[in-house]
Amino acid sequence: MRTELAGKAVLVTGGASGIGLACAEAFRAEGARVGVIDRQDGLGVVRADVTDEPALAAAVDTVARRFGGLDAVVGCAGISGPVGTPMSATTAADVARVLAVNVTGQFLLVKHALPWLADGGAVVLLGSDSAFTAAPGMVPYCASKGAVVAMTRALAVEVPGIRVNCVCPSVVDTPMARADLGAVLDDPAFPVQAAGDVARQVLFLASPASRPVNGQALLADFGMSAR
Ligand code: NAD
Repeated sequence: MRTELAGKAVLVTGGASGIGLACAEAFRAEGARVGVIDRQDGLGVVRADVTDEPALAAAVDTVARRFGGLDAVVGCAGISGPVGTPMSATTAADVARVLAVNVTGQFLLVKHALPWLADGGAVVLLGSDSAFTAAPGMVPYCASKGAVVAMTRALAVEVPGIRVNCVCPSVVDTPMARADLGAVLDDPAFPVQAAGDVARQVLFLASPASRPVNGQALLADFGMSAR
C-alpha cells in the first residue's frame, strides 16, 4: 500500500525498545526506510549513546549516508532517572544524568541530523505530560521534559524549512514504565496507552498531514491535564 511516508528516510533514536521500537515498526509498515540508533543492541541498530557527541554524529552520518539524506528524525532515546525519589535524596549527578540524555541528547541529535534533513523535513521529539503535570519524586524528569517542550519551540523558529514538534504522552506501557511503576500499569482504572498509540501520534507529526503544525507539543494524556 502506498502511503504519504512510503520511501521516506527516517531516523529513530531509542528504537531498540518501547516507544522508539513501536515508531520504527510503524514507519516501516508505512513503507518508510528506517534507521535506528540506540545504546543497546537490537535488530539493525546502529549503536551509539546520544550523550557521546562524536559517536552520535558518526551514527547519524552512517544512517543518513545509507539513505542519501533524511526526511524525518524521531528522538525517543530517554531515561526516567530516580523516579519516586524525594527532592532531599536527589543529587546534582541525578539531575545532570537525566538532562544529559533527555535534553542534550535530543539537541545533539537535531544538530547532527540537520545537515541531512531535506527541505520540508520533520523532527519529532519525545516529551512527556510530565512537562505540564507534575507528580512527586520526579523533579529531574519533569525538568528535562519541560526543557524538551521549550527546545522544540526554539528549534522550530530557528530552523527554516524543517518542522519541529514533540509528543507528550502520559504513561505508556513500555519497559521504562514497567520498571518505574510496576503493577500499577495493570490496574484497569489507571489510564495507560500503548507504545503503538504514541507511534501513530509521531507518524502524524512526521507526515505531510501535519504540514501547518510547527513548534507544538501534542499533549496526549486522556484529558487528565484539562481537569
Ligand atoms: P524505554 O526504556 O522502553 O526505551 C528507551 C530507549 O532509549 C531504550 O532502547 C534505551 O536503550 C534508549 N536509550 C536510553 N538512553 C540512551 C542513550 N543515552 N543513548 C542512546 N539510547 C538510549 O523507554 P520508553 O518508555 O520507550 O521511552 C521513550 C521516550 O518516551 C523517553 O524519552 C521517555 O521519557 C518518553 N516517555 C515515556 C513515557 C512512558 O510512560 N513510558 C511517557 C511519556 C514519555
